[in-house]
Amino acid sequence: MSDSIYLRQLEIGPMANYVYLIGDRETRECMVVDPAWDIDAILETLDADDMKLTGALITHYHPDHIGGHLFGQDIPGVTDLLEKRPVKVFMHKEEAPYVKKTLGLESSDFVPVDGETTVDIGKLPVRMIHTPGHTPGSMCFMVDGNLVSGDTLFIGACGRVDLPGSNPEDLYHSLDTKLKKLPSDTVLYPGHNYAADRTSTIGRELETNPYMRFDSVEQFLGVMGF
Ligand SMILES: [Zn+2]
Repeated sequence: MSDSIYLRQLEIGPMANYVYLIGDRETRECMVVDPAWDIDAILETLDADDMKLTGALITHYHPDHIGGHLFGQDIPGVTDLLEKRPVKVFMHKEEAPYVKKTLGLESSDFVPVDGETTVDIGKLPVRMIHTPGHTPGSMCFMVDGNLVSGDTLFIGACGRVDLPGSNPEDLYHSLDTKLKKLPSDTVLYPGHNYAADRTSTIGRELETNPYMRFDSVEQFLGVMGF
């Protein structure tokens, strides 16, 4: 990791979600990945670190990542963030309709993007990697040798594919053609704290994560129960 990157992993909420702050230490600009559960705590953290929020990046539309109604409760998220700090919110174009429906919100601050585009935070380029499967417009973010993977890839596991909009074949192909091809020393920052460790590497997952070791879609689908 270079000296100029600011990267913080915050565990917030009852579902062990990880919220990430990614920034450029030189320009002090910063974006939040998947703002949810406790917007004040997120903003207090970046304020205390003297970072300025310039945007939000969405891995996928599920309410534990962006806020909304889930299991009879209203989870704070993007809507509350925009009330406090109006910033651009980047999401994959295929995820945008789901994000709007989950939040019950249409905003001119929403910026739908393609996979394989780049969003700059200060002088720090963040590569958007479209990884459909868990949801149609799931994205991972690659920045300076670090992969923020949302619910696509966990340490020792991968995202569920039995939810509305999930597609197990797509997830297999996202892992096989995109994440498995990343440099092995890429540091993995998953969307939930579901493992003993808080981070891993692509190389370690290639050796130990069964979902990264299948070499056919049939094998993958069999283990996933399809
Ligand atoms: Zn999810």
